[in-house]
Amino acid sequence: MDIPRIFNITESAHRIHNPITPEKLATLGAALRLEPGARVLDLGSGSGEMLCTWARDHGVGGTGVDMSQLFTAQAKRRAEELGVADRVTFIHGDAAGHVADEKVDVAACVGATWIGGGVAGTIALLRQSLRTGGIILIGEPYWRQLPPTEEVAKGCLAHAIADFLMLPELLAVFGRLGYDVVEMVLADQDGWDRYEAAKWLTMRRWLDAHPGDALAEEVRTLLTSEPGRYAAYTREYLGWGVFALMPRNR
Ligand code: SAH
Repeated sequence: MDIPRIFNITESAHRIHNPITPEKLATLGAALRLEPGARVLDLGSGSGEMLCTWARDHGVGGTGVDMSQLFTAQAKRRAEELGVADRVTFIHGDAAGHVADEKVDVAACVGATWIGGGVAGTIALLRQSLRTGGIILIGEPYWRQLPPTEEVAKGCLAHAIADFLMLPELLAVFGRLGYDVVEMVLADQDGWDRYEAAKWLTMRRWLDAHPGDALAEEVRTLLTSEPGRYAAYTREYLGWGVFALMPRNR
């Protein structure tokens, strides 16, 4: 079981597989006022940077589940490197339907909401692992500017304009689902550059090292087109943020 190989190639050098930077990830950890010993569940944990750095900086512990063997192995190495391997566990597997054995203080899905079939389904899934008073984290794109045409949405690698909302509407959806938005940290274009532009050097080096690979032509084509596509579309139109939610009780 694994994610499509192309992602394991283009994002092999990423510690964070999203437009959030290490600084903003630290800002988010501080914003949540995490207590030492707090338990975090992270569905689609990638290379584990959120869990590992929050374990180091705030003394939290927890579990990450991710379908990429490569990213999961990197997450385990990162935990060793930061000296938190006794507090965080990374499981390779499909996170769809994953519910924690013991309820957690923070239940997160940061940039992988297809795991629960979309934002609403993922929130419902995370809720099953959440203790009373706990916080759900959802990382999700939104439109910074509404694409003027469906073609522009496709340029952002969305299927349609309807894939994403403008920020106020996304916040309203959380409310309609019965949640208070209690914090948020938003990515900016520099963060998008770190996520997207970092793929280009990785692709170039991979191509130089694997000229005869079955995916070499696909990677060549991507490396040629991606900087222009990204600058014209994703960088201009797509926003991204992590939203902290608490179920409304009144
Ligand atoms: N939250 C991480 C990773 C986000 S990228 C970060 O911010 O760095 C999306 C991640 O979802 C990838 O690591 C991918 O391997 C993982 N993924 C995709 N489908 C999945 C599934 N069904 N179950 C678990 N992980 C999945």
